[in-house]
Amino acid sequence: MQNTEIKTTCSYCGVGCGIIVNNDSKNGVSVTGDINHPVNKGMLCSKGMNLHYVVNDTSDRILYPEMRWSKSHPMERVSWDSALERAAAVFASIIKKHGPDSVGFYVSGQCLTEEYYLINKLVKGFLKTNNVDTNSRLCMSSAVVGYKKTFGEDAVPISYEDIELADTFLISGANPAFCHPILFRRIEMHKEKNPKTKIIVIDPRRTDSAALADLHLQIIPGTDVVLCHAIAKILIEKGYTDSDFIKNHTENYQLYKDLVLSSSLEKASKLCGITISDMKLAADIIAKANGFISLWAMGLNQSAIGVDKNTALLNLSLLTGHIGKPGSGPFSLTGQPNAMGGREVGGMANLLAVHKELNNPVHRQEVADFWGVETISGKPGLTATEMFDALESGKMKAIWIICTNPMVSLPDSRRVEKALQNAKFVVVQDISHNSDTAKFADLLLPAAGWLEKDGTMTNSERRISYLPKGINPPGEALSDVEILIRFAKKMNFNGFNFNTTEDVYKEYTQMTRGTNIDISYLNYNRLKNEGTFQWPVPDYGHPGTPRLFADKKFFTPSQKAIFNIPTAIENTSEQPNDQFPLILTTGRIRDQWHTMTKTGKVSRLMTHTPSPMLEINPIDAFKAAIKEGDIVVVTSKNGNVRVKAKISDAIKEGVVFLPMHWGKQLENDLNRTNNLTNTVVDPISKEPDFKFTAVSVGKFVKP
Ligand code: SF4
Repeated sequence: MQNTEIKTTCSYCGVGCGIIVNNDSKNGVSVTGDINHPVNKGMLCSKGMNLHYVVNDTSDRILYPEMRWSKSHPMERVSWDSALERAAAVFASIIKKHGPDSVGFYVSGQCLTEEYYLINKLVKGFLKTNNVDTNSRLCMSSAVVGYKKTFGEDAVPISYEDIELADTFLISGANPAFCHPILFRRIEMHKEKNPKTKIIVIDPRRTDSAALADLHLQIIPGTDVVLCHAIAKILIEKGYTDSDFIKNHTENYQLYKDLVLSSSLEKASKLCGITISDMKLAADIIAKANGFISLWAMGLNQSAIGVDKNTALLNLSLLTGHIGKPGSGPFSLTGQPNAMGGREVGGMANLLAVHKELNNPVHRQEVADFWGVETISGKPGLTATEMFDALESGKMKAIWIICTNPMVSLPDSRRVEKALQNAKFVVVQDISHNSDTAKFADLLLPAAGWLEKDGTMTNSERRISYLPKGINPPGEALSDVEILIRFAKKMNFNGFNFNTTEDVYKEYTQMTRGTNIDISYLNYNRLKNEGTFQWPVPDYGHPGTPRLFADKKFFTPSQKAIFNIPTAIENTSEQPNDQFPLILTTGRIRDQWHTMTKTGKVSRLMTHTPSPMLEINPIDAFKAAIKEGDIVVVTSKNGNVRVKAKISDAIKEGVVFLPMHWGKQLENDLNRTNNLTNTVVDPISKEPDFKFTAVSVGKFVKP
């Protein structure tokens, strides 16, 4: 009996906890937290500590390629060669007939960096379209734009180690107690040791994170920019700003100051549903901070004004000079384990690798030269929701979906369903039959999962880790890198002569040389032998960079950070009305991950919240004659959902909450939250407005 021990990284959230895997040839895989890992120091949350169940249970796995010759044919088992020859033939023929923009790839923040890089090289360099986007569009694209507008590049300035150096936290639109549990545990432990540590939470719900707060601002959804401006106004009027930092290291302050000072606290109070005294208290807490960290996630990003919400919050760090020093800085939380790695390799329709700009012809040529192709199209590709619109309208004919389940995760599920039905050719490359999207596949490709392949990931704090292969994938499943290389060769593309994942990593990292994300000196050996590193790592012996902007030089042309003026201060979402009077906000629960294709099969993770519930305030429940546990129908202009009611004063009056995870059902799809959500997106980041849909709620009456 053989027993091996492997050090790797959790495959769920962007916290990126270190895991030790024991692989016992008799009992399978087991996991424990890595006590020496700088992120989690041995801790794991419920999802991480149950990862082995997902690996050991292969009953749902796709074991061999399956294909159907036409929509009316059943799926049948085929060889890898037949599968990829068909994929190549169909893609080549569609491109020949309808042009390169008639095809697209929709991928995932769970892809490893090498996979993300290869997909982007394949699509942008060789298929000659920028139609490659990712489900990370749904969770952090507003933060990417916010960072670029403020610092000149998409750069998270600080690290988890700053948590223990801070004394004030502003958590806005995030519930890390559920969604980034180990990060939150570090904040909790820090507060336990240092009771004077202050926490402000901005959220329409009194979440488990808000329960730890010294001040909970129970905001009306969509009004975050107004609130940030109100706090800024108080800080400026009371002289609680860092004038030296503002003068020497920022641009555009006067415009921002004029805008903020012209706002009215009374109006802000009314719009946000927060008292002026609470706004003043928040400003006082921030003013007294020695180390101030703002943390945020989907509550700011998933919005019709997501970019404005981001820059409004970033402005508070600039105003108070809390950046570039220990224990201070803004910190967006990524939902997925490698959303950050995807950003580094340009894994979105409007990005290029190593933070180069798609709309910059010089950058495009640099990338084209590096890949040995003539040009890269300057036309931005279709983003996540735009791709499915294009499939529905027939402008796009074929889509290749890798490691994501858009049938459940994209807004307005009915539209996604129509789009997939209308597509001429759908390739689904995934590990599991549990995905609702897989049933629309014309070609189903079995991919290797976590622990079954190697590669790298970058967590929320720019920390790169190497994930080794520990076990073989089941059946004929192949690593995503192998599948993509084989497909590229079937397309007769040069530039894909990689023998290993490490070869892909080497090529990508050479591209980073001399850039702000330089990891060209960080090779697999160092990652395997020395552990994780935070980019940039601009030399052979370099230890990595926990904190950016320590020299107060930003990545803008002037090297100054920029105060941004919002394009919209008040929310532009579709507002509630007489027919749909309540605001639906969607989110996550503690023990589930995304669309439950993995966590949904672990019975002990189903006990915390076994089924979706609509959280509704007692006043709204009373008005609709709804009692605890009643089956209710939630209706929006797009569709409806039928779930049990959970009456709670933890949610603000006028707002209801549904978890986003459910989709796969035994009888029907009436518990799929995204039946309701709308297709409004932020105009710049194109991130969907998941946190704001006008709905009505009524008691279900049997017909
Ligand atoms: Fe995994 Fe995130 Fe939990 Fe850490 S906090 S164990 S990375 S799911």
